[in-house]
Amino acid sequence: MSTFEPRAHRPAPEELRGRVIMVTGAGAGIGRAVALALARAGAEVILLGRTVRKLEAVHAEIAQLSAPEASIVPLDLERALPPDYEAMTAAIDKRYGRLDGLLHNAALLGTLTPIDQYEVQTFMRVMHVNVTAPFVLSQHLLPLLRKSPDAAVLFTSSGVGIRGRAYWGAYSVSKFAVEGLTQVLAHETEGNSRVRVNIIDPGKVRTAMRRQAYPSEAQETLPLPESLTAPYIALLGPASLGVTGQRFAAQAP
Ligand code: NDP
Repeated sequence: MSTFEPRAHRPAPEELRGRVIMVTGAGAGIGRAVALALARAGAEVILLGRTVRKLEAVHAEIAQLSAPEASIVPLDLERALPPDYEAMTAAIDKRYGRLDGLLHNAALLGTLTPIDQYEVQTFMRVMHVNVTAPFVLSQHLLPLLRKSPDAAVLFTSSGVGIRGRAYWGAYSVSKFAVEGLTQVLAHETEGNSRVRVNIIDPGKVRTAMRRQAYPSEAQETLPLPESLTAPYIALLGPASLGVTGQRFAAQAP
């Protein structure tokens, strides 16, 4: 096991200067907070999401910082087709010529429903956005990640991604699958590329998804996404050089 502990990371100013990092689901919640933190640490951030208005708001926030300019990739991971991925990859290649980091953060919760009543359509949508889309996105972006001297791919899991829980249906199943995708891709890239692949469980975080899952919970007791960005910087930046195939938690158990 690795002794690397991203929770202990204290980001240095300009730590990510010169790195191009894509964040999916960058318009809200954890993705938004991490995108802002990456920009503050000097990264050129590519904001991917489905709601352009939210991406533009994050872009404007980054423009207010003394940070490199961000760029926006409007992409609905539920509906995107191969030509959309191809156009996006070509645009990134043209503008940056490589990719140094990729945070797979976007996800759908679906519904909290027993398996015997779970809607097949919802199951398929959740599996598509949470598993198939990160697979397709990774497949398209690997050539650009391989052009980086030191690239980091980071997937996002959940507590229900390693232990199934009643009613969590497609969401739990999708996170198990993402854990598997991380392990397979980490194994395939280890020793033959400078691409590392890890996975993070953010823990309980005060976001729209958490509210949807636990509507009666006292939101103010939960940490804000802004307080959990240091481990993401560690795992997407030079601090995690050489660390691959590992699962990390953004919060202490
Ligand atoms: P939010 O629901 O707040 O944010 C999810 C983001 O994903 C939004 O920006 C959303 O866009 C985007 N997204 C959803 N569907 C699509 C799509 N089809 N195409 C493109 N983007 C899409 O969730 P969190 O910030 O809470 O979650 C972030 C990650 O952390 C997820 O992977 C989640 O599973 C994980 N996680 C969160 C926990 C928590 O307590 N919050 C706990 C454990 C894991 P839009 O805003 O436009 O809808």
